[in-house]
Amino acid sequence: MKLTRINKTYGNKHVLKDITLDFPAGKVTVLVGPSGSGKSTILRSLNFLVTPESGQYEFNDHQIDFSQSISNKEKLAVRRETGMVFQDYNLFPHKTVLGNIIEGPTQVLKMGKKQAIEVARELLAKVGLADYGDVYPSELSGGQAQRVAIARALAMKPQYVLLDEPTSALDPELELSVLKVLLQLAREKQSMVLVTHNMAFAKQIADKIIFVENGEIIYDGNPEEFFSQDNPNERIKNFIASMT
Ligand code: ATP
Ligand code: MG
Repeated sequence: MKLTRINKTYGNKHVLKDITLDFPAGKVTVLVGPSGSGKSTILRSLNFLVTPESGQYEFNDHQIDFSQSISNKEKLAVRRETGMVFQDYNLFPHKTVLGNIIEGPTQVLKMGKKQAIEVARELLAKVGLADYGDVYPSELSGGQAQRVAIARALAMKPQYVLLDEPTSALDPELELSVLKVLLQLAREKQSMVLVTHNMAFAKQIADKIIFVENGEIIYDGNPEEFFSQDNPNERIKNFIASMT
């Protein structure tokens, strides 16, 4: 998965400035950087929640040129392979936990209900919520709700899972339950792109770190070097110090 020379503006504000990035399959790519730097805009471009004005997006056999119109068929095909997990979970409030998880598989993948429920139960066990299938989202803690949202994304068997600050709405003790699930997925080589402000977690889970500032890529490389005391970039050192 690769973005090449992406530009995005809002009004006269240039928020992504000709950026080029790749997101290796089977790896965890973590986007960090100050508030307003463009992290969510990058992540959202990957499943067309945001449409840049120019640049290319390469994903499997899809070659998308953002300056041309993109067909709905192509959008759907890419969205199906990029499961999104949001900061505030976005669960359907009128559906049970199981109902939330089987929605995509039954409606989009046309999977039979029985099989979809079977898959959903396996995923609930995986995220530590085996007994919560019949519960409604309002009865869940934030950490539980986010784990359901992750299970829901995984139920579509996406090639990539995209996560935008998945734990920033959570208290530290609830956050841990979600981080454990993400670490497990990383061990299983699930391709992920993650935006986070949690530097300790970024260091722990990242195969690749991208530091975004003011719509530009300031660093794109390995986490050891990024978090090293010897990192020659003072901006990065100051940023890490301010976040930890
Ligand atoms: P945060 O860490 O606060 O979530 P971010 O790095 O995710 O920040 P983005 O949400 O990508 O930042 O925003 C990048 C810039 O684009 C910001 O200046 C923001 O104000 C602007 N922006 C984002 N979405 C819109 C929008 N829909 N309309 C206008 N400006 C926007
Ligand atoms: Mg953001």
